[in-house]
Amino acid sequence: AIYTVGLTGGIGSGKTVVSDHLGSLGVPIIDTDVIARQVVQPGQPALSALVEFFGNEILLEDGSLNRNELRQRAFKSDQTKAKLDAITHPAIRIATLQEIQLVEFSYCVVVVPLLTSTSEFGKIMNRVLVVTADHETKIRRVQSRSGLSHEEIERIMASQLSDTERLAFADDVIENNSTLAAARQATERLHHQYLTLSQQNDT
Ligand code: ATP
Repeated sequence: AIYTVGLTGGIGSGKTVVSDHLGSLGVPIIDTDVIARQVVQPGQPALSALVEFFGNEILLEDGSLNRNELRQRAFKSDQTKAKLDAITHPAIRIATLQEIQLVEFSYCVVVVPLLTSTSEFGKIMNRVLVVTADHETKIRRVQSRSGLSHEEIERIMASQLSDTERLAFADDVIENNSTLAAARQATERLHHQYLTLSQQNDT
């Protein structure tokens, strides 16, 4: 099996900075956000299952998914949200495992923004890397990137796990409170560790 590092962190923590840098070092990066969109493309079984449960109204004219409509219907209750997860999560997990099997490198990184300790994803990972940053730092960075209001960012953060919860299942942590150069340096240190760990894992 290919040595797999799960990469997670809250909004604005610096996941992309870390995964981009690992990618530039040659590490295959698998992004579960990208896979989550692929598994609901027209013709995919997960899309048919969603239509069966939530209705034809979640489709656009061209047969592709109307994400806004699905979101409105799925977030109505805990049950409908659970149904959405029950349909999409296994499909995402299977597609992710398939991508991992194609990796031709000593290890790979799977970016899982919403990784939770209990999620099935945890079982795929040999190791979990959590990127953190101070609350105000994250808000400042997201604001300058997106123009979201302070309030909207706080609301998204409140809906995600806290860093304390993430650190409970972290094997490695990058505290991204300093410069980009420092974040990249911390990333490289871990990269070397992962190369060593993946080789030990091989034997
Ligand atoms: P999201 O979950 O919102 O996609 P993310 O965890 O992928 O966020 P990044 O996109 O890597 O976070 O970082 C958020 C923003 O902060 C980006 O615009 C990035 O360039 C900037 N940033 C990240 N780390 C630093 C740093 N150490 N110094 C300065 N800017 C940074």
